[in-house]
Amino acid sequence: MEGEGEAGFRVQQLLDAIYRHRVESVEHISTLPQSFREKLVARGISIGHPQVEKRFVSQDGTVRYLLKFGDGETAETVWMPEGDGGEAGDGTDAGDAAGAAERGHPDRFRSALHGFGRATICVSSQVGCAVDCQFCLTALLGVKRNLTAGEIVGQVWAVLNDQKVSPPENRINLVFMGMGEPFLNYDNFIKAVRLLVQEVGVAESRMTVSTAGIVPRIHDFGHEAIRPKLAISLNASNDELRTRLMPLNRKWNLEKLLAAAREFPLRNRERITFEYVLLDGVNDGKENASEVVELLRGLRAKVNLIALNPGPGIMFSTPAEERVAAFRQVLDKAGIPAFVRRPRGRDIYAACGQLKQTVEIATAPAPSLPSA
Ligand code: SAH
Repeated sequence: MEGEGEAGFRVQQLLDAIYRHRVESVEHISTLPQSFREKLVARGISIGHPQVEKRFVSQDGTVRYLLKFGDGETAETVWMPEGDGGEAGDGTDAGDAAGAAERGHPDRFRSALHGFGRATICVSSQVGCAVDCQFCLTALLGVKRNLTAGEIVGQVWAVLNDQKVSPPENRINLVFMGMGEPFLNYDNFIKAVRLLVQEVGVAESRMTVSTAGIVPRIHDFGHEAIRPKLAISLNASNDELRTRLMPLNRKWNLEKLLAAAREFPLRNRERITFEYVLLDGVNDGKENASEVVELLRGLRAKVNLIALNPGPGIMFSTPAEERVAAFRQVLDKAGIPAFVRRPRGRDIYAACGQLKQTVEIATAPAPSLPSA
């Protein structure tokens, strides 16, 4: 703005127009002087945002969006009305009192009238993923490229726009748990978080990022002034098993991972969430649960259990409910809060580990769903 001879306050006007009012073209930024808008347009400056290529709606209300970016690459973003528990990492609302208050509060009826209580958006950080977890569909893509900070924020922008909601008036949680490994696109991810907090208006306490365990970035993340809550994909109870399921364990094994978790500077009342995908007969025995108890001893942690969401080419199966409950009980008894994440949008391949940005799987017959 300075270079253009414009006043400094124009910067915030521009940011508000893009992120809060979600204006779709420079011409429509009515707060900026007409002559200045014309100048920007003449220079070829435009507002870019991802296009909704496809929208799949689940019977449970979840919506999976296939979003297209400027260069034609695509990624998926998921809208979950009422969330799935992953946003708080502990099965409660966003980890503050707001959600609990909301349940018993008359406001709840007001929002119910408007068809909106709270929702969670699951955001992608890369096109594809390089991490190669054996139970995850996104891994089958490999990684195409990182998303820019603008593209990460753009996903939220596009979904809010499509759903016609805005934070903070509408209660929106964000989970960076979509396609890709956020900590392998660290700088863009952090930049996006800042924009989302400062410009879009989502509080950092309403955001959770999940990492497969990129240890050096866990250290960096702990030192960020603005940061979401941390979730770590544990998924196995010993090194042998974890290396088999998540080859990155060769580089950053459980000892290194848990050391980073122990050193992580937690805030008041904050806990680290450990996600654990339960694979029938592979990592879901009571003995595995006991090993998890030992691993997490002394940590301010909670565990988020996710029964495998199936997909084509995934050679594992979903455990029966009783096995999930038995696993959870072992953790509970040891004083580790454990929650079972509610699968959302499994019928449209929108659930954890099912994002793959292909049309062919979306039109394939829905997998047979174990009761959940
Ligand atoms: N790459 C990051 C962000 C993705 S989060 C990470 O790994 O944490 C996605 C979560 O879904 C992870 O906890 C992952 O372990 C889990 N997941 C992957 N595939 C799954 C599947 N098929 N069923 C259930 N959960 C799965």
